[in-house]
Amino acid sequence: MSLLNRFRKFSFLHFPEEISSPEICRLLRRRIILLMLVITIVPLFAMALINAHQYQERLREEILNPLLVLVNKTRHSTELFLAERLSAVSFIASAYTFDDLADEANLNRIFRVMKREFGGFVDLGLIDSNGVQVSYVGPYELKGRDYSEQPWLHEVKIRGTYISDVFMGFRRFPHIVMAVQRQTDDGKSWVIRATIDTQKIDDLLASMRLDAKSDGFLINTNGVIQTATKNYGNVLDVFELKLPPYSTAANVLETKDSHGREVLVAYTYFPHAPYVLVVVKQMGELFRSWYTLQTDIFYVFLAGVCIILLAVFKVTDLLMKRLLESEQKREAAFREIEHSQKLSSIGRLAAGVAHEINNPMAIINEKAGLMKDLIEYGADFAEKEKFLSLTDAVIKSVERCRSITHRLLGFARRMERQLEVLDINEVIKETAEFLEKEALYRNISVRFQLGENLPGIPSDRGELQQVFINIMSNALAAVENGGTVSITSWDNDADTIAVAVEDNGCGMSEETLKRLFEPFFSTKKKGYGTGLGLFLTYGIIKRLGGQIEARSREGQGTTMTVYLPKKQTQPKAG
Ligand code: ADP
Ligand code: MG
Repeated sequence: MSLLNRFRKFSFLHFPEEISSPEICRLLRRRIILLMLVITIVPLFAMALINAHQYQERLREEILNPLLVLVNKTRHSTELFLAERLSAVSFIASAYTFDDLADEANLNRIFRVMKREFGGFVDLGLIDSNGVQVSYVGPYELKGRDYSEQPWLHEVKIRGTYISDVFMGFRRFPHIVMAVQRQTDDGKSWVIRATIDTQKIDDLLASMRLDAKSDGFLINTNGVIQTATKNYGNVLDVFELKLPPYSTAANVLETKDSHGREVLVAYTYFPHAPYVLVVVKQMGELFRSWYTLQTDIFYVFLAGVCIILLAVFKVTDLLMKRLLESEQKREAAFREIEHSQKLSSIGRLAAGVAHEINNPMAIINEKAGLMKDLIEYGADFAEKEKFLSLTDAVIKSVERCRSITHRLLGFARRMERQLEVLDINEVIKETAEFLEKEALYRNISVRFQLGENLPGIPSDRGELQQVFINIMSNALAAVENGGTVSITSWDNDADTIAVAVEDNGCGMSEETLKRLFEPFFSTKKKGYGTGLGLFLTYGIIKRLGGQIEARSREGQGTTMTVYLPKKQTQPKAG
C-alpha cells in the first residue's frame, strides 16, 4: 500500500477514496497545517494568557499589599491622634470640677498645658447644663454662646463622649469638635468641649507620601469630604464616589471616577470615629508597567505565531514535496515493473506460438517443396508456369515465417551469452559498418561523438550488435534521404556508460512511444517491419542489466539511449 493510501486510513485525515494523489497531497497539506497550527498555537496562546494573568495577579498583589498596609497604618495614626486628644479632654473633665473649669484663669492654664503637651488644640470651652458656654479660651469670642439647640450636644449627652465631623461652625474654617460630658454632685451635667485643628490630620495624611496623581483623605460616613483633596473637591463637598461598604480592615475597590478614569479605591472605616480614610489611585498609573508588558507579551506571541506559521508551512511543503516525489518514483517503478512483466509474458506467449507454428510451417514447407518438384518434373499443362511461381511464393512466405519464429524462439530460449570485456565504441563502429552502404546510398550523414577512455564493459558482442543494429536501422528508416543520425557515447555515472542514437527523422506519436517495445508493434508498411526489433532489443538490454529509454517528438526526431552497466550484474528477467 502506498504511503498516501495509508494516510487515507487516519481518521482525522479522512479522505474520500476516489481522489488522486496530488489532490490527497493538497488535502493532507491543508489538514496537517491546520493540525500543527492548532497543536502549536493553542498552547502558546494558553501560555501567553496564563502568563499574563499570573503576572497581573502578582503585580496586583505587589501594588495592593503595600497600599493596604499604608492605609491601615495611616488610619491607626490618625485614630491615635484623635484618641490621645479625646483622652486628654476626658482627663481634664475627670481631674477638674465644674467650678475649677468655670474659672477662666484656670481654664486658660489648663489649655496652655494641653496645647504644649498634645498640640492640635485650638480652643477649649465649658458648657453648662443649659447648653451655654460659661467659660472659653481660644482665639474667638465664643463665651456665652448657646449650644443648646445643636445636635452634637444632644449626642454627647446620650453617649458621654463625642467626636464631630469636620465642619466650619461659627468660625468658617474646618475643625473637629471633641466633647466629654460629666456630672456635678448635684446631678447636673456639664460638657467640656475642645476644638481640634484639622491641619494636624492633613499632615498625618500627607505623610503617606502619595504620588501626584493619587489622593488620600478622610470622608465622613455620609460621604462628605473631611480633609483636603487634590482631585475630588473641597472640604465638605460630597465625595463623588459611592460610599464603600463598611469595613474596619483596609479594603480595595475598583471603580471609575466622574472623569471616566479607572481608579483603585483603598479605604478603611474608623471604628471609634465617624470617618473613612480613602486613598484613590489611578489604575493607568499603577498598571503602566503591566500595559507595556502586555504589549510585549502580545508582540512575543505574534512573533511566535509568525515563526510557527513559517515553520509549519515550510515543513509541510517539504513533507508534501518528498511525499509526492516518492509517490511519483513509486508509480514510475511500478509502471516499469508492469511493463517488463507484460513484455515478458507476451514474449513467452509469442515464443510458444512460434514453437507451435514451427511444425506446421515445416510441413507446409516440405509439402510445398514436394508440390514444386511434382509440377516441375511432371507433365506439362496449361498453367504450369503460374503454378510454379505460386508455389515459390508459398515457399518464400514460409521462409519468412520461419525466420520470424526463429528470432522469437532465439529470444525466448536465451542462448548462452558469451561475456567478454568490450570496448563499446568498437562495437558501435563495427555495427555501423553494416549500415554504411544504406547511409551512403541515401546520403545520410552518420556522425560519431564517441567518449574517450570509456571503461570496458562485460557484455556479449553478438547481443550488443543486435541491439545497435535494431536501433540504428530504425533511425535510418525514420530519416528522409539526406538526414542525420548521430551516435554518442559517454561515461554516464559511476555504474553505467551510455550510448545515444539520435535522428532528425519522423519521430513518434505518444501512442507509438507507449507501445514501442511491444512485440509485433510496427508502424512500417507491410513487409518492411516485423515489430520485433525493439522488443528483442529491450529483452537483451534488460538481460544485460541495462536500460533503454526513448525520447521523441513527432516530426522532429528521436533519441534512443541505452545505459549499460560497467560491472556485470545479475541478469534480469525480461
Ligand atoms: P519495426 O522496425 O520492425 O517496425 P521496431 O520494434 O524496431 O519494429 O520498431 C517499432 C516501431 O517503433 C516502428 O515501427 C516505428 O514506428 C517506431 N520507431 C522505432 N524507432 C524509431 C525512430 N528512430 N524514429 C521513429 N519511429 C521509430
Ligand atoms: Mg526495427
